[in-house]
Amino acid sequence: MGEVGGRYDVVVIGGGPGGAAAATMLARQGRRVLVLERELFPRHHVGESLVGGVFPLFRELGVAERLAEVGFMQKRGSTHIWGQSLEPWSLYFNREKPEEAYSYQVERSTFDQVLLDHAESCGAEVWRGASAVDVSFDDPNDVKVSYRSRDGERGTARGTFLIDASGQRRFMAQHMQLVRAAFDPFFRNLAVYQYFRGHRLLDGVNRYNLFLEAFAGGWFWYIPLHTGEVSVGAVIGQDSLPALRTDGPDRFLAAQIERTRIVRRLLESATPSSDTRVINNFSYEVDRFGGDRFVLVGDAACFTDPMFASGVYLALRSGIQAATALDFALGHPDRWQEAIDLYAAEYHRLYLHARNAVQLIYHGNQLFNDQPFWQARKLDDGQLAEITADGGFMSELHPTGWLQYERLAFGQVPLPEIVEDELGRLDCARAARQQEVQRLMHDFGTWIPVRRPTIAMRRGLGYAPNYQMAEGLIVENGHSTIFVNAPYMAEAVAAADGRRSVRDITADVLAKASPHERLSRQLLLVAGFRDAHIRGLFGTPATV
Ligand SMILES: Cc1cc2nc3c(=O)[nH]c(=O)nc-3n(C[C@H](O)[C@H](O)[C@H](O)COP(=O)(O)OP(=O)(O)OC[C@H]3O[C@@H](n4cnc5c(N)ncnc54)[C@H](O)[C@@H]3O)c2cc1C
Repeated sequence: MGEVGGRYDVVVIGGGPGGAAAATMLARQGRRVLVLERELFPRHHVGESLVGGVFPLFRELGVAERLAEVGFMQKRGSTHIWGQSLEPWSLYFNREKPEEAYSYQVERSTFDQVLLDHAESCGAEVWRGASAVDVSFDDPNDVKVSYRSRDGERGTARGTFLIDASGQRRFMAQHMQLVRAAFDPFFRNLAVYQYFRGHRLLDGVNRYNLFLEAFAGGWFWYIPLHTGEVSVGAVIGQDSLPALRTDGPDRFLAAQIERTRIVRRLLESATPSSDTRVINNFSYEVDRFGGDRFVLVGDAACFTDPMFASGVYLALRSGIQAATALDFALGHPDRWQEAIDLYAAEYHRLYLHARNAVQLIYHGNQLFNDQPFWQARKLDDGQLAEITADGGFMSELHPTGWLQYERLAFGQVPLPEIVEDELGRLDCARAARQQEVQRLMHDFGTWIPVRRPTIAMRRGLGYAPNYQMAEGLIVENGHSTIFVNAPYMAEAVAAADGRRSVRDITADVLAKASPHERLSRQLLLVAGFRDAHIRGLFGTPATV
């Protein structure tokens, strides 16, 4: 093939959900992007249950309608045997009306193909059956990616930036050793899984739910698919490897199924429709999520345990955020390092939050506490203190944060006292601020907002709510950092000088606004004061 295709803005290695999302966004932003995908799609992939948070990402990518047409199974939430009793409990995306909110259980070969085809239809070039084999950063203006096609032809693709979205193959970590992967000592797990037909479903509204059953040796997933099959997998300890080798995967999995209470019954009259597959060592993080003109997306950077089924969400979200970072970098060539560093920090933060949440849910399982698998997966006091000290994580567990589903699960599982106490304290403080702001909003003349002394502010880059990288106000508040991008909120935070009331500040600001702008700016500014107060950025002279 030689050197074909000219020069790209970004070369992406891997066309799974992470790579496809990044390529879609870049192409939609008018960038020249090439995806090298080693497989010919459709190809098999594990990881079928999606969290509710994927829908805003599908909309951002413009692929929501196309995915809706496939007819994927719609789950209303998840059902668990986990925590304190062997009785199943369920969580729903809509607690009051479970039937009204859903997410998908996706057969991945179809799902991944839809995403990659969509990237192509948005303008990305996709070379299927092309494996990246080497990368060179020798030229400061060009990343050169060598690839090999299925029929053995070799070629080079050139780009300004590189995205490694090669999944668990971790191209940059495994082949290039530009970053190093460290395996997570907490989750020394492996998964053994197979597909079945002729299975039974749970009852009623739970019938298509993700079903998770803790058992003595680990836990099972049970995911009904629109193909008429069910995906059944055991997550167990790596110390089971010798038994797995002796028995062979089929017999080993059948024996694990026999150890369950419910999965066993649901599969009573089912027959296998696939081989049994094994995945080992899937929990790790690499030491840098971005570097000299490259970023890592999805599993190429990290993966925690599949318990909360957040892998595809994180791959899509990191793909989108990597794309907007590189789009910014392409538009501001003198600031590419800053954009990459910010992306890397943001994805690492999301990963750590997901990992903390899964660790807590493992820790909180009291069933089979006498079994080595569960004994080995408890957090010690130091680890718990570290988790609770992470103010960003604890506040994301808020009932409207992106970890809201995890927060609901924690309601069903006994949490360590230190975590309960901290969550209780944060909830109380938030509720008190909400009440206080109601009162303050009655009289803007007496509401004098004061920035808390712990707050430091600077202008800089951050992610806006639509995942675009943008300039804004970075507010560091103790352990957590808030990026204030909405201009009205930034204005409100900056104007709170501890002397003037909200009425005086708004009057000053509105004096500069044109008459037709006044009303909308006033409303936005007041909303800015309210939101900043609820987020804990302000006190009043009496409270600070
Ligand atoms: C046991 C288990 C269960 C899971 N269950 C769930 C679940 O229920 N829900 C969920 O959301 N997530 C789940 N996950 C996680 C989920 O599967 C992954 O997080 C997700 O697929 C990551 O997407 P990605 O795009 O980063 O990588 P992938 O989807 O793995 O895509 C990477 C792509 O890169 C290609 N590639 C690799 N090397 C090269 C190369 N050198 N050149 C070119 N192309 C290359 C591969 O062929 C592949 O298509 C599970 C994971 C495991 C291990």
